[in-house]
Amino acid sequence: MRHRHSTPFEMCEIKYHIKLPIFIARQWIRHRTANVNEYSARYSIMDKEFYVPSKENLAAQSTNNRQGRGELINGKQADNILKILKEDAERNYEHYEEMLNEKYDGSIIDEKKKGLARELARMNLTLNSYTQWYWKTDLLNLLNFLSLRADSHAQYEIREYADVMMSTVKKWVPITYDAFVDYRVGGMELSAKGKIVIQKMIKGEKCDIESSGLSKREWNELMDSFGFKQHLA
Ligand SMILES: Cc1cc2nc3c(=O)[nH]c(=O)nc-3n(C[C@H](O)[C@H](O)[C@H](O)COP(=O)(O)OP(=O)(O)OC[C@H]3O[C@@H](n4cnc5c(N)ncnc54)[C@H](O)[C@@H]3O)c2cc1C
Repeated sequence: MRHRHSTPFEMCEIKYHIKLPIFIARQWIRHRTANVNEYSARYSIMDKEFYVPSKENLAAQSTNNRQGRGELINGKQADNILKILKEDAERNYEHYEEMLNEKYDGSIIDEKKKGLARELARMNLTLNSYTQWYWKTDLLNLLNFLSLRADSHAQYEIREYADVMMSTVKKWVPITYDAFVDYRVGGMELSAKGKIVIQKMIKGEKCDIESSGLSKREWNELMDSFGFKQHLA
């Protein structure tokens, strides 16, 4: 793993059965090096099941990271948001059944009417509806997935899945797991400029962001990674 010699990891394969909200499936499917077999909403009626965040995960839009969350939303505003999420999902699902002219349990609503095709009726479902798939991949690509998704930059909802999958890797291939935690999760990559900054600091030479050629964001990430105090506001 240290030398990026990847072929041994391609020899091990694993298949997961995953139930996940559609908006998370959309992030997940970007990992193209897996074989995916998804539950067909053309063929079957979708489950009446939706993801609604718990209150402690109901955060406001981050003010400094467009892809992130900020402070928690509390009180009446949180209650109202949860109400909207539940009501919209349930109402859309009821309309889905109405268009299908069929209930989730298979009972027909109105014998005199034709139901809309499943492949069309599904378009009205909310993105928090659950889908399911089998996801088969090899260890190399699974570790790539986990290094991106069991990471603080990943959205909480996909990270939750990745964290559980980390524990399956630990049980399945414990030696690889330890190497992964050591070299990938706990390790870091240094750019050439970043390396020069660290070398100068070790030698006690003068070093600042202007002479480093790093952006403020890179500089701060570097300082934070090494636990140095030169984080810039
Ligand atoms: C925090 C975060 C934010 C993201 N934001 C966005 C976003 O805003 N919009 C968006 O569209 N995506 C976004 N992504 C998805 C991201 O850009 C990747 O597409 C995704 O993480 C899959 O990674 P991957 O390509 O390494 O995985 P895989 O598709 O599994 O590929 C594994 C490896 O195979 C190789 N490979 C695969 N396909 C190709 C190819 N076509 N050409 C060359 N090499 C290939 C690459 O070496 C790649 O690393 C985000 C991901 C993360 C983690």
